[in-house]
Amino acid sequence: MFDIYNRKIDYIRISVTDRCNLRCIYCMPEKGIQSIDHKDILSYEEIIYLCENFAKIGISKIKITGGEPLVRDNLAYLIKKIKSIQGINNVTLTTNGILLEEQIDSLVKSGLDAVNVSIDSLDEIAYKSITRIGDVNKVMRGINKTLKYKHIVVKVNCVPIAGVNDEQILDITKMAQNKNISIRFIELMPIGLGKKIKGISEDRIKMIIEENFGKLTVFNKSIGNGPSNYYSLDNFQGKIGFISAVSHKFCEKCNRARLTSNGFLKTCLQYSEGQNLNTLIRSGKNDEEIIEIIKKTIYNKPRENRFLEAEDYENFEQNIMSQIGG
Ligand code: SAM
Ligand code: SF4
Repeated sequence: MFDIYNRKIDYIRISVTDRCNLRCIYCMPEKGIQSIDHKDILSYEEIIYLCENFAKIGISKIKITGGEPLVRDNLAYLIKKIKSIQGINNVTLTTNGILLEEQIDSLVKSGLDAVNVSIDSLDEIAYKSITRIGDVNKVMRGINKTLKYKHIVVKVNCVPIAGVNDEQILDITKMAQNKNISIRFIELMPIGLGKKIKGISEDRIKMIIEENFGKLTVFNKSIGNGPSNYYSLDNFQGKIGFISAVSHKFCEKCNRARLTSNGFLKTCLQYSEGQNLNTLIRSGKNDEEIIEIIKKTIYNKPRENRFLEAEDYENFEQNIMSQIGG
């Protein structure tokens, strides 16, 4: 379907939990957060029902996210069910990778198309200082096992943070040299804990990469569902991408909506606007009514983010990123 600004909306990010087995400094407080009560989290059957309705309005691509999606039991079951819905042709996952090694076989069997693994440093100590509790070796084992499945697209997400993982930008880039992995450097967004931390600009990252690996050449094809701008490097198998919602905003071509784990349909990362679908489906509204409400909510998607404005407006998102899904 198209929204009020004539953008084609065909992609939804679905968060299946607000819980996580890591505590990344820009995303989750050290002591965690009060988790949403289990009874308020959408069941798999409710998520599948909503996906059937999303497909009817033209959504064809679904990303499963969290919190950490792999901490929810039997995620492969959900993926298999979503993948079998007519009209849904691409189901992908964003994960911190800690549980990937043990789950990738069943995820692949379920029909998963691609995996994005978030990894902000390859250095054991730096990785632990960012995630507070994570073991980067586990993540690497998960990535290497996933790469054995040649049809699965593997990408690495890295959020560069000033003074924390600057030194790691080259090592992360190198992951694309001899392996079929594309890297995406994600600009830190001023959401939740990200408001208090300083990221590194796209231009600076490009400079660091070019000084060491040569010219980044624009790669015009898209890889996956998202807004990333990709570049090639000579003698690199994978591409290098940038998702810079603050310094190079891409709102005019945004194609996405989000569903939080408690069933809130969110139309822009920065705003609290949207519609609680959980109460609607539990109050017994029929399919036509639900579809109309979904369409109306998505149609009214905000025009653009206001990340560069210093003010914190009343309708800005107050939840932290792990509650939204990134
Ligand atoms: N736990 C999974 C993971 O880490 O991939 C999925 C959820 S996580 C919220 C999704 C993505 O959001 C991760 O790549 C993470 O690095 C990114 N993220 C979290 N907070 C962010 C922020 N303030 N700005 C930019 N990206 C952020
Ligand atoms: Fe957890 Fe992902 Fe947030 Fe890190 S970025 S705390 S892994 S939800």
